[in-house]
Amino acid sequence: MVEKRERLKDLFLQIRDCRECGLHSTRNKFVFGSGSAEAEVMFVGEAPGKNEDLQGLPFVGRAGEILDSLLESIGMARKEVFIANVLKCRPPGNRDPLAEEINTCKDYLFRQIDIIDPKIICTLGKFSTQLILGTKQGITGLRGRVFQRDGRAVLPINHPAAVLYTPSRIAILREDFSRIKRLIDADYKIQPASADNDIPSGDLADEDEEDIRQLGLF
Ligand code: URA
Repeated sequence: MVEKRERLKDLFLQIRDCRECGLHSTRNKFVFGSGSAEAEVMFVGEAPGKNEDLQGLPFVGRAGEILDSLLESIGMARKEVFIANVLKCRPPGNRDPLAEEINTCKDYLFRQIDIIDPKIICTLGKFSTQLILGTKQGITGLRGRVFQRDGRAVLPINHPAAVLYTPSRIAILREDFSRIKRLIDADYKIQPASADNDIPSGDLADEDEEDIRQLGLF
């Protein structure tokens, strides 16, 4: 129980000062992700936007409000799931992530997935879907279908921000969230993948503990 939370904390402390790509020079905050370390459901978005960059938390802007309302529609709360992004730092002007940025950052996401070991990963939009499924296919042909990767279900769905541009897309998102609910209720019967990524833990300084508290949960 405690172990996953500790391992996530250790990962956060290891990577939060990352300078592996140019985005570190324009970011305000590194956006690790937030939620329950014990989550069965993990959402993976694209990259932090303006609000996320300012607050250091994922999906806190308008797309986040939509995500929250979709979660609520299936009786779930944000604190029960884990929400992360492909990129941990905001691309300037919210431009698309570059291939080399994804390549540099992806290991952080994979390590988060290893630790949390969710039963379902819901990929939000093209970039996370392509990364997690290892495909170049567009989201249109993949959304709403359940794939299996490493013993867990992967369900690509549209990015909630799409609703901001095309409000009628909320219906498709609601349908896909009902699918998540049905998958949870059916309990998958998928062998959980083993988490073999052992990250050493150490004692935390008080300000580190405070940073972790501000992340909200784990
Ligand atoms: N869009 C994303 O993909 N991620 C966020 O955290 C916010 C908006």
